[in-house]
Amino acid sequence: GTESAFVVLARAHALAAAGKEIINLGIGQPDFRTPDHIVQAGIRALENGHHGYTPANGLPALREAVAEDIYARIDVTVNPDNVIIVPGGKPTMFFAVLMFGEPGVEIMYPNPGFPIYESMIRYSGATPVPILLREETGFSFSAKAVLAKITPNTRLIILNSPSNPTGGVVDEAELDLLAKGLEGHTHVAILSDEIYSHMLYGGRKHKSLLTYPNLKDRVIMLDGWSKTYAMTGWRIGYAVWPETMVEHATRLCVNDHSCVNASAQFAALAALKGPQDEVHEMIESFDQRRKTIVAELNNLPNVRCADAAGAFYAFPNVAETGLSAKEAQDLFLEKGGVATIAGTSFGTNGEGFVRFSYANSEENIIKAMERIRPLLA
Ligand code: PLP
Repeated sequence: GTESAFVVLARAHALAAAGKEIINLGIGQPDFRTPDHIVQAGIRALENGHHGYTPANGLPALREAVAEDIYARIDVTVNPDNVIIVPGGKPTMFFAVLMFGEPGVEIMYPNPGFPIYESMIRYSGATPVPILLREETGFSFSAKAVLAKITPNTRLIILNSPSNPTGGVVDEAELDLLAKGLEGHTHVAILSDEIYSHMLYGGRKHKSLLTYPNLKDRVIMLDGWSKTYAMTGWRIGYAVWPETMVEHATRLCVNDHSCVNASAQFAALAALKGPQDEVHEMIESFDQRRKTIVAELNNLPNVRCADAAGAFYAFPNVAETGLSAKEAQDLFLEKGGVATIAGTSFGTNGEGFVRFSYANSEENIIKAMERIRPLLA
C-alpha cells in the first residue's frame, strides 16, 4: 500500500503550477517553522564536527532526555536503554510489524487509521483485523469489541490516540478496560502510536499506554518530534521498547539505517531541553482553528462534524451530500482548489468521511469553506 496524502499533495502542486490558487488542508504537518533555538542547535552540531555515525540506538544524551521527558509528562520511569531514536515515527511501525507479522497471524489496527498500518500488515503477510472507530463515540473504540476479536493467532494490536485521521481521542475508561482485559491475553503485544500526544484540546489529558504496569513487558510506545516541534522534514522520532524486544529493534536499525543523522539528534535534544513556549503557542493556535473549522464544517449543507478532540484533523461526515469520500475530495480540489483527503485513504471504514487538516491559517480555513459551500449547495 501507500499513503495517498502524497498523491493529493502532488496533484495540488500540479494545479498550483498551472496557476490555480490552492488551499492545502490535506497535508498532515504543522504549518509552523521549527523553533529557532532547535534549528540553531542542529547547525551548531554540524559546525562543531558532529558529522559522523552515532550509536545505532541514538545518542545516549538524547535517550536520557527522552526518558526524563516521559517521566516529567506522564510520571513513568523508563530506562534510557529501552529508548531507540529512529528517523521519524514510521520506522517503529515498520519494525514492530516486521517483528510480529507473518502469514497465518493476525494484527489488529484502527480503521479508519494511519494507512501505513494496514499497508505494512499486508506486506508482512499477516491478516489485518480492523478496529472500527465510530463517529458516535468521538472516534474512540469499544474495549469489549477489541477484546472479542482477539484469537490465539493475534500477535499485535496497533492503537493510535490522538488519532490520524479522525482527531479522536480514545476514552480513558475504554483504555483502562482494554488494559485490564489484555491481562488475559499475554500472547498479544501492543504498538501504541502516540505521535500526537501533545495535541489534546478542551482540557483533555493524554493517557499513555506506558502508564499501565501490567502491560510494561509488551507495549511499544511510538512518539517523536515531527508534529510536536514542527520537525517532519528532519526525520527523527523515538520509541520505547520492552526489555525483551529492544535488542532486536536495535538490530533492525543497524540493518536499515545505521543511525539517525547527528545534527537532527542534537536539534531534538535542544527541543526537549529548551523552552516549550513555541510548542504551547502552536497548540493554542491549533485549538483556535479547531473550533473554527468544526463550526464551519457543521455549517456546510448536509455535512456534520464531530468534535475533534486531538491532533490537527477534523473528520466530517459527508455521506448526506450524496458524494462518496473520493468524489468529495476530487470536487473540493478540482473545482474549489481545496486539498483534503478522502476518508477511504485511511481504510474502508473511512467511506463517507473526508479528512481536513487544520494546519493552515484561520483565514485560509474560512476561505476554503467559502469555496466548498457553493459546491455542496
Ligand atoms: N503516526 C501517525 C499517526 C501519523 O499521522 C504520522 C504522520 O503523519 C506518523 C506516525 C509518521 O510520522 P513521521 O513523519 O515522524 O514518520
